[in-house]
Amino acid sequence: MELEGLKRTMKVVEDMGVTLSDTTTDRHVQVRKYLRENKGHINHWFDSWHVAKSVKTKLTTLWKKRGCEKVAKWTQSISNHLYFCAATSEGDGDLVEQKWLSVLNHITNKHEGHGEKFPSCTHGPIERDWIKEGSKAHKELQLLLGKKRLVTDIRKLSPVDQTSGLEAHHKIVCQFAPKFVSFSYAVMKQRINLAALHTCSNAGRAQAITRDGQLRYSLSYPKYKGGKHIVKPVMEECSYDYIDDLNTELIRLRKTYNSHRKAQDAAHKLYISPPPLSSGASHVLKSDAILAHRSRFSGQ
Ligand SMILES: [Zn+2]
Repeated sequence: MELEGLKRTMKVVEDMGVTLSDTTTDRHVQVRKYLRENKGHINHWFDSWHVAKSVKTKLTTLWKKRGCEKVAKWTQSISNHLYFCAATSEGDGDLVEQKWLSVLNHITNKHEGHGEKFPSCTHGPIERDWIKEGSKAHKELQLLLGKKRLVTDIRKLSPVDQTSGLEAHHKIVCQFAPKFVSFSYAVMKQRINLAALHTCSNAGRAQAITRDGQLRYSLSYPKYKGGKHIVKPVMEECSYDYIDDLNTELIRLRKTYNSHRKAQDAAHKLYISPPPLSSGASHVLKSDAILAHRSRFSGQ
């Protein structure tokens, strides 16, 4: 689904005459392969949040090992460090890599000699619960954070664009088209269009203000914080201005197509369903498939 979505979206954009130079996605295996083999001219970046989440999950498993308890106190800092590497290196792979690996020195209270491009840490004097160089925790962290596959992906962390805006939009799509209801292609497409109108009408909303002119915030305790809180800005009320535009369009269409039949014919031309994804599979006779299934599981 992810790959098919990417292919179709890229086609729509390219058909509009837009030249794509960069794209940011998660680390989906098929998407990586497709972009590498078919869209080599596009810089493929990875979204920091997805990479940070995977590193955090691995660190959470690690700190439960005997001798690695100190890793717990470092998990959030290491995750923050990943965002710092991505945001401050302008996509320079070597620089990102040296910054990332410098954390293995930093946690042992060593703040210099990281590499040519990033010789020393940028922070001032600090006091932390340092991890002893060569200790079990340090060795395990070297294995985990210095793993070749992870470092290769860290080098391609997106310097600018992140997918969080898109994910916020997906939440809005779920409001207009709940996942537990099955819609036909035409209905789904219109619901997605409505969600897009809502997102566009409400992009860049300002933060709400209290009666005495202070910025409004809310506190929440999300599961991923493990009992800790986060402070979120409260935004202004949503706008539904687009409903007026839709009503105007509705009246225009009512005048253009003066009978239900005419309107239906016009709509059918607009929403032609593409073939289902399974139509590309090679079809077999059901009786043959059952026969093969039975002989495989009967031990004969
Ligand atoms: Zn340091």
